[in-house]
Amino acid sequence: MNKLDEQRQKEIQQAEELLFAGPQALGFAKGLFQGHFVSDWVMPYPRVREAEQGELDQALTGLRKFLNEDLDPAEIDRQADIPRNVIDGLGRIGVLGMTAPKEYGGHGFSQMANCKVLEEIGRRCASTSVFVNAHHSIGIRALLLFGTTEQKQKWLPKLVTGEQLGAFALTEREAGSDAANVQMQARPSEDGSHFILDGEKRYITNAAIAHELTVMARTPVPGSDKTAVTAFLVTPDMPGFEMLEARMPKTGIRGTATGRFALRDVKVPKENVLGPIGKGLKVALTVLDFGRTTFGACCTGAAKTCLELAVAHANTRRQFNKTLGEFELVKKKIARIAADAYAMEAMTTVTASFIDRGLEDYMLETAMLKVFTTERLWECINDVFQIYGGSAYFTDMPLERMLRDARINQIGEGANEVLTSFIALVGMRGPGMEFKEIYDTMMKPSRDGMSKAWVAGKNRLSATIHVPDVPVRSEQLRAHARQLGRLIRHFNFAVNRALITYREPILDMQLVQERIANAAMDLFASTCVLSRIDGETQFGGRNGDAASPELSAADLFLRQSFRRIRGFLAGLTDNDDRAVIAAAKSCLTTPTGKTNA
Ligand SMILES: Cc1cc2nc3c(=O)[nH]c(=O)nc-3n(C[C@H](O)[C@H](O)[C@H](O)COP(=O)(O)OP(=O)(O)OC[C@H]3O[C@@H](n4cnc5c(N)ncnc54)[C@H](O)[C@@H]3O)c2cc1C
Repeated sequence: MNKLDEQRQKEIQQAEELLFAGPQALGFAKGLFQGHFVSDWVMPYPRVREAEQGELDQALTGLRKFLNEDLDPAEIDRQADIPRNVIDGLGRIGVLGMTAPKEYGGHGFSQMANCKVLEEIGRRCASTSVFVNAHHSIGIRALLLFGTTEQKQKWLPKLVTGEQLGAFALTEREAGSDAANVQMQARPSEDGSHFILDGEKRYITNAAIAHELTVMARTPVPGSDKTAVTAFLVTPDMPGFEMLEARMPKTGIRGTATGRFALRDVKVPKENVLGPIGKGLKVALTVLDFGRTTFGACCTGAAKTCLELAVAHANTRRQFNKTLGEFELVKKKIARIAADAYAMEAMTTVTASFIDRGLEDYMLETAMLKVFTTERLWECINDVFQIYGGSAYFTDMPLERMLRDARINQIGEGANEVLTSFIALVGMRGPGMEFKEIYDTMMKPSRDGMSKAWVAGKNRLSATIHVPDVPVRSEQLRAHARQLGRLIRHFNFAVNRALITYREPILDMQLVQERIANAAMDLFASTCVLSRIDGETQFGGRNGDAASPELSAADLFLRQSFRRIRGFLAGLTDNDDRAVIAAAKSCLTTPTGKTNA
């Protein structure tokens, strides 16, 4: 086996261990790749429990009042700091422990309710929403999910009130997108009472203001020369903890403190290990599932602000003796922002409900939510920026700040390219395994193999023939539902064809993966939108009043999303991929400075 094959084998094994251990109920997104519509997961549209709704309404009223009176996003950006009174206020209202159990002083909110809170903050200030996410969605999440009762009793009460703050430290120089490549070492002490941590972390939100950091480091695997990642609770008062840079100056979300720190032979008691030893990557990825869900909520809030700003300006600014809103090219932008904001909210709510229902596997959906909402928000901000023209460029308007703030979204918590490839590869694994069964049996027939291959062949064939039922309750949505069903069948057919055509090399064909992932994301987004309008039409007793801004936005989203899906699938056979690869290759192999493009 050559070095490359060895590396590939290692990566596949690592991914298998990380992603596919445990029960394998067919999730919604995985179902799409198999040609199924797993309706139980997405219909009817989830709603916050009635008992919780009252508490949520109260929390939102308090939060809005506090944000209106005490939050100044422009000043936070200018000063590159979130003032202590804002942090204390968020703690007082309960935002810093919204989903923590009440027994530890938290609010005990569901993820769906928590997302509504984050949406409200995301509407106003990205620095503040990233700060809250770093503390609550990922900083203390490992403790909430994997902490022992003793650990929770010891740490949570102060963390959920904001008296103390949390951070999540995975990234290092060599471990960015390649998160599994953590180099920080954790050697067990001879008497087994503690671990000695050594290494550096960078780009860590809240690092310099946190009292508790969830730190990923490598521990030896007993009985072998291998190491595996383990999660530790580290506090900055531990001897050897060195803050290298407390606030790295940066483009956007300037109010957050993004830092670099080193651990120089820091002794961490064994009682501070979070979750099983050697399972730190699983801990990290589970934590990030939560982070990506609230990412969706914050982007939804920001998209709603874009819509408000766009409408306000388009209705008041006059050029050529007309308001800007009278021009079709401005209308087009406003309609698209409205459609995307509606879809982002629907997708966030549905994904959050998977967590609340205790479903086992929603990694694909959280990755889809993160990529979809962050890409759409970037477009929304670009559109509203354009509508404001020159005025958007000046610092007395919030748009240049919003633009700077939004740029991190496509990079943080998993760069969108990495997640796009992940979505396609994990999604295709199910049908891919069935094809492998068929192929292996054809190459080496056996009785057992034949029966497995028969089942696999039947599954593949039936998904190709069968148009899945999309069970909406509203009569006026039936045509959209039928179209979605047909597109799922078309998608499944395209996935099968790609797997048969490219076989193993598809693992490296990211241009193909991107189209498959994009189509899957739009199928998921359309499903959430359809489910939401169906729910709203039924619940609100509306009769498909197309004049309602929400219904017309939803209708537009479905039409545009269906058109995009057809485009992505057509691109699988009609594309310029060879030319793209050739042009990039020739740039990449030309000595720097010699290109004249
Ligand atoms: C403001 C800010 C706050 C952050 N907060 C935290 C935090 O609280 N905790 C924490 O642990 N980390 C944090 N991070 C780190 C963040 O998660 C990483 O920056 C991110 O994972 C990307 O890693 P990287 O920057 O090393 O980029 P690289 O890994 O060097 O990637 C650079 C680019 O290469 C491309 N790329 C990489 N791999 C692939 C691939 N397989 N396929 C295709 N393209 C690829 C992508 O376009 C990517 O954007 C933060 C970062 C920033 C900027």
